Amino acid sequence: MTVRSIFVPEAIHDYMLGVSLRESPVQAALRAETAALPEAHYQIAPEEGQLLAFLIETIGARRTLDIGTFTGYSALTAALAMPQGRVVSLDVSEAFTAMARRAWAAAGVAERIDLRIGPALDSLDALLAAGEAEGFDFAFIDADKENYGAYLDRCLALVRRGGLIAVDNTLWRGRVVDPADRKPKTEAFRAFNAALHRDERVALCLLPVGDGVTLLRRR
Ligand code: CA
Repeated sequence: MTVRSIFVPEAIHDYMLGVSLRESPVQAALRAETAALPEAHYQIAPEEGQLLAFLIETIGARRTLDIGTFTGYSALTAALAMPQGRVVSLDVSEAFTAMARRAWAAAGVAERIDLRIGPALDSLDALLAAGEAEGFDFAFIDADKENYGAYLDRCLALVRRGGLIAVDNTLWRGRVVDPADRKPKTEAFRAFNAALHRDERVALCLLPVGDGVTLLRRR
């Protein structure tokens, strides 16, 4: 399946990518390889990756946090956006991240990505325990949805003031506006988005890119 910004009409989307998408050969190959998996919808849209890269480059990030590695596209994109920078990427899956490692090696960025396998909350707490508070310029949250609030709390400690946090899938394929949908993940997104709206610790902007991405700047 092709992962795209689902709230943009297809013809406009195709034009948008045609005149703006810049992807390295390894990114394109990884995206194609991932698209063949049953879990392909876990992957971010390429224009969302380019948005994250743009933000990383704009703030001159040197260290980024990637919560939810999957097959490695977002970590690869972050590493490519920072010529000298380092990524800490977290996931529970050895199988998906094996694909990620191969792509990172092919792109020559493997030594700049620190992959940590295990529950992300444990890895984030380990980073805090190791004195890494304020040690990151940017974080991308795209893992199990029910833990988003807990991930955000850790990111607000790990990302420096003025740093950015991007949160994926915040429009949840539009299910957030369907009152009949009371599924736990949908309810989790409604609660998370409502709490963010009131959260004075951050400046925020929710964009209909990909499946909805909320950008936060830590105050
Ligand atoms: Ca996602």
